[in-house]
Amino acid sequence: MMQSTMQDFPLNVSMIFRHGRALHGASEIVTFEGDDSRHATFADVAERVERLAVGLRGLGIEPGDRVGTFMWNTQEHLEAYFAVPMQGAVLHTLNIRLFPEQLAYIVNHGGDRVVIVDDVLAPMLARVAAELDTVECYVVVGDVDVTALEEAARDSAEFVRYDDLLAAADPAAFDFPEVDEWAAAAMCYTSGTTGNPKGVVYSHRSTFMHTIGIQTGSGVPYTWNDRLLPIVPMFHANAWGAPYAAWMAGADLLMPGRFLQAEPLAKFIANERPTTTCAVPTIWADLLRYSEDHEVDFSSLQRIMCGGAAVPRALMEAFQERFGIRMLQAWGMTETSPVAAVSLPPRGVALGTTEEMDWRSLTGRPLPGVELRIVDDDGTVLPWDGQAVGEIQCRGSWITGSYYGDPAPEKFDDGWLRTGDIASVTPNGYVKISDRSKDVIKSGGEWISSVELEGHLMAHPDVVEAAVIAVPDARWDERPLACVVRRTDAGASASDLREFLGTHVAKWQLPERWTFITEVPKTSVGKFDKKVLRAQYADGELVVEEL
Ligand code: AMP
Repeated sequence: MMQSTMQDFPLNVSMIFRHGRALHGASEIVTFEGDDSRHATFADVAERVERLAVGLRGLGIEPGDRVGTFMWNTQEHLEAYFAVPMQGAVLHTLNIRLFPEQLAYIVNHGGDRVVIVDDVLAPMLARVAAELDTVECYVVVGDVDVTALEEAARDSAEFVRYDDLLAAADPAAFDFPEVDEWAAAAMCYTSGTTGNPKGVVYSHRSTFMHTIGIQTGSGVPYTWNDRLLPIVPMFHANAWGAPYAAWMAGADLLMPGRFLQAEPLAKFIANERPTTTCAVPTIWADLLRYSEDHEVDFSSLQRIMCGGAAVPRALMEAFQERFGIRMLQAWGMTETSPVAAVSLPPRGVALGTTEEMDWRSLTGRPLPGVELRIVDDDGTVLPWDGQAVGEIQCRGSWITGSYYGDPAPEKFDDGWLRTGDIASVTPNGYVKISDRSKDVIKSGGEWISSVELEGHLMAHPDVVEAAVIAVPDARWDERPLACVVRRTDAGASASDLREFLGTHVAKWQLPERWTFITEVPKTSVGKFDKKVLRAQYADGELVVEEL
């Protein structure tokens, strides 16, 4: 093969850092503190990144070592996003909402030597600290007392305050190595619905390529005119790539900290005027409900990124109609860095039209750099005809090829990642997810999409949330059970809702079993947790009405 004349230049996190620092030093990071916000420029943050790198090196962190973060979305978390990988160490974002056993498992499995922890989260970490075998040092952000953590942690563990570590460091003392692009930059464990969570390890190269992928016209490109509010936590699949993409673009980053309830979020949005933001559908549904009886100012928002779970069309329409805000849908998973597809409409479709909404409410088209196919149970690759339904498999430079310390061959098929998501694909490449494979309802040999039923139900004015699960049925094997949260108990009855659904889906798909609940249980990253509902049904905890 003929060799190219191109330079052998590593695609790494340092490149993203240097670019943002050199070009966008005046852009800012804003961290919400409940009433006021803290502001720092990219230039300020860049210097602190160097100090943190020096400090971590002083604590004995070497290339390849894992540094955990147990933090909200804050300026300091962003500093760790750069300082850790840029010195060749590996950033391990810890999901603060995991069950204690799972949290201890991922810290030990990841082998974290240092954990950077927000002072307000120290009590949560204290619950598992005695079991954290590998942690030698806790770096505490903030000045709140953390005695509970100090007492629970192993005797040998050291404690240092983040600000002291930075104050003592000479930023000029660190000579960042040019880290190899294939080296690990970060790791994140899947939310683990069954069994132990599985670790995905991102390389510098995959991180760089994912950032560029987001920044293409097929993605959700940010610019230096944007103010980006990532509500999705930085421990949930790298906040969907938002921190690095914003830094590369020079977009201001508005960090909500721990203030993720509708009221403070609405206040932060009104105060700091983001132009764009990203979060799971439940956050937007909460904000929408809040806006019904509170004054809100969303006038700065032009585009909302929504994903992590199927986005109900009714939610998109509500934001469009009430606030004129375009909500786009993205699909991906921890294993795909995570953004793999975005629901931008095709060429020629006018924005704001029903036709555009039809396209936007599909799951999306793959980003350049991601290849995708659908495969049936027998392993046959299915056509993109908008009809055939199979499991999505994908491959590309920011898609994982294995799990950390666990090759998990059943998760891969000839170099393709098996996603467990069931979908059809239109001839022009729009994916339409009908379910997770474990959520699909198999009724008499036919499949019913729980996602579709939920989407329609949530368009009913009396319905706040709806989740549909499969329950055993003597005749049909499985039938749908609709679990509905109504605005008031006096709202639509089960037969009203069934009739309403009947205007959208075939009769045989209509649930005959209904239950009214006060809230749909949520996972650690705010998605509907259907496994809890299935367990509640199995334990006879749900009051089921049969029509
Ligand atoms: P996680 O790794 O926790 O982010 O979960 C990834 C899973 O979330 C995917 O495999 C999908 O099942 C689901 N998911 C993410 N985005 C979407 C979307 N836009 N529509 C439907 N499901 C989604």
